[in-house]
Amino acid sequence: MSIAENIAQIRAMIAEYSLASGRPADAVRLLAVSKTFPAADIAEARETAQQFMFGENRVQELAEKAPVLPDDIQWHIIGHLQSNKAAKAAELAHWVHSVDSEKLLNKLQTGAEAGNRTLKILLEVNWTGEESKSGIRGTDEALRLAEKAASCKNLQLNGLMTMAEFDATEARLRETFSGVRELRNRMERELGLALPELSMGMSGDFREAILEGATIVRIGTAIFGRR
Ligand SMILES: *Cc1c(COP(=O)(O)O)cnc(C)c1O
Repeated sequence: MSIAENIAQIRAMIAEYSLASGRPADAVRLLAVSKTFPAADIAEARETAQQFMFGENRVQELAEKAPVLPDDIQWHIIGHLQSNKAAKAAELAHWVHSVDSEKLLNKLQTGAEAGNRTLKILLEVNWTGEESKSGIRGTDEALRLAEKAASCKNLQLNGLMTMAEFDATEARLRETFSGVRELRNRMERELGLALPELSMGMSGDFREAILEGATIVRIGTAIFGRR
């Protein structure tokens, strides 16, 4: 199947699950995760499927692809971001999904301010507590960073991001995604912030994520193939 056919199929599934979650068919956006795939594949997705949102894990890879692609593409950094890469991320990306420390917040703020840009950010929550994963652990730390993020004038905090366990059961996936949604609700209530976005769900678990309220799903393999 072509990239365009894969995207069409994923979009149809997203619309179906979105309706099943009690929301409009267009309530969930598709972020095409293009990491490890060449710029030509991104150009093809843009031209043949009008896909404009792409996700990359590494800033270096984004720095190689962004200059050779049209500037109507919206770039999202979704992988763990080291603070020494934050300035470059703030220069090239429109969104960063993987904010998980105060140090990173400060570096992103400095970089965005230097470039006179506003960067949309999400706080990455490590809900499952797996050692191998980055992300914020604990509700108190999440609340503290959200408050800090809200005070950064070149950063626009939009919500939360999470990754579920690789081999979780459906029940465990639903529990993880609903837990992050509830944390988001609590942050909105306690901090008086509007946090409309939940970046949750990948090729293997976007159904469960959408049923629990995801607004952005990050899909790589099901669009571009195996890495
Ligand atoms: C690679 C990656 C994805 C996409 O995963 P697929 O299983 O290929 O859809 C989503 N989110 C993050 C953070 C990733 O690193």
